[in-house]
Amino acid sequence: MDHFHYHNGELHAENVPLARIAEQVGTPVYVYSRATLERHAQVFREGLADLPSVHLAFAVKSNPNVAVLKVLKEQGFGADVVSEGEMRRALAAGIPAADIVFSGVGKTRRELAAALEAGIGQFNVESEEEGEELAALAAERGVTAPCALRVNPDVEAGTHAKISTGKAENKFGVPYDRAAEMFDRLARLSGMNLRGLAVHIGSQLQSLAPLEAAFSRMGALMEAIRAEGHHVTHMDLGGGVGVPYREGEQFPSPADYGAMVARVCKGWDVTLMFEPGRVITGNSGMLVTEVIRVKQGVTAPFVVVDAAMNDLARPAMYDAWHDFAAVRPTGDRLTASVVGPICESSDVFAKEREIDSVQTGDLAVFRTAGAYGATMANTYNSRALVPEVLVSGDRFAVVADRIEPAAILAAERVPDWL
Ligand SMILES: *Cc1c(COP(=O)(O)O)cnc(C)c1O
Repeated sequence: MDHFHYHNGELHAENVPLARIAEQVGTPVYVYSRATLERHAQVFREGLADLPSVHLAFAVKSNPNVAVLKVLKEQGFGADVVSEGEMRRALAAGIPAADIVFSGVGKTRRELAAALEAGIGQFNVESEEEGEELAALAAERGVTAPCALRVNPDVEAGTHAKISTGKAENKFGVPYDRAAEMFDRLARLSGMNLRGLAVHIGSQLQSLAPLEAAFSRMGALMEAIRAEGHHVTHMDLGGGVGVPYREGEQFPSPADYGAMVARVCKGWDVTLMFEPGRVITGNSGMLVTEVIRVKQGVTAPFVVVDAAMNDLARPAMYDAWHDFAAVRPTGDRLTASVVGPICESSDVFAKEREIDSVQTGDLAVFRTAGAYGATMANTYNSRALVPEVLVSGDRFAVVADRIEPAAILAAERVPDWL
């Protein structure tokens, strides 16, 4: 459920007409709904209400806007970060360091040191080498690093290959079969407080079965590690719960997910940690665009919009679907391809799809663009970096400026020897 609706024939975010935002901020522009973010945060938490001890860490990479982070912080979420930059954002939003989890296969020495100095709550260590380096950095500083060992459970997530992370050949985590012995070695290092295990098998999962398989394997591993005399007090189950992008698609609800976790993790006696991203932010945002022109094509017309793959990369990168809708639909329909202005044939949002009929100057939206949208934007073709707006009731605010090509040009230099 979201808080984007048609009112008097016009699409609104909460009580604000999208046309008003487009007029004041320009297009393309991402628009987020605070009430939707809050609702998704609450529904996710309620889904886990039967679990004894839960820590929620929002996956910052899905939407790192600092205002979005602040909304989620107010909902009691910590943060799952994958770089020092994301950590700084989480701290800037007021998320306590103790509620920050640092994931990622390539944390640099500098990032590890910065996170130790910030006093973050947990490092999800992805290799023995990283664990040794972190333990040494912690010991030098006279502290211990709270850690979980990220394990690759070798489970097929059944999602797009580019967002599958839990098969043995993926770069993430340590091999399942070697995890117990690595845990034993790392746990003995001074500077290391190895207290748990972590798993994350991929994103946009449509079925709970792979998650269940992964969690069961983690439970067995935890038992084996405990049998060696180690304490395991934390189990980080990652993120990955998918969302429908197309009207009519069926996905497990947070309640279904919570019930599965409660069943599989019964009696584990750990704090269960979660890193949801997309399920919180996906449906909370739209990308608003203006139609530049409708161009005749050989098989179908092209609706050329002013948003492009640099603003919303998911269709080009993952063949992803985003519903397209007119801000002021007339009721007429049209079969067309919706494309951006970029000089790449992958800059296509919809191929010969039946859509609301639109013409030059009309506003339209790509729905479900709150996750992995603005965060992946870039300036390819010397386009502006897309701005972001947060709506709350009848108010809205620009929460990220449009960065104009001139500002980017100003950061470039021609050396004096040219
Ligand atoms: C990307 C990622 C997440 C979030 O995934 P979603 O599918 O957005 O829920 C959680 N944990 C880790 C380690 C990730 O890399």
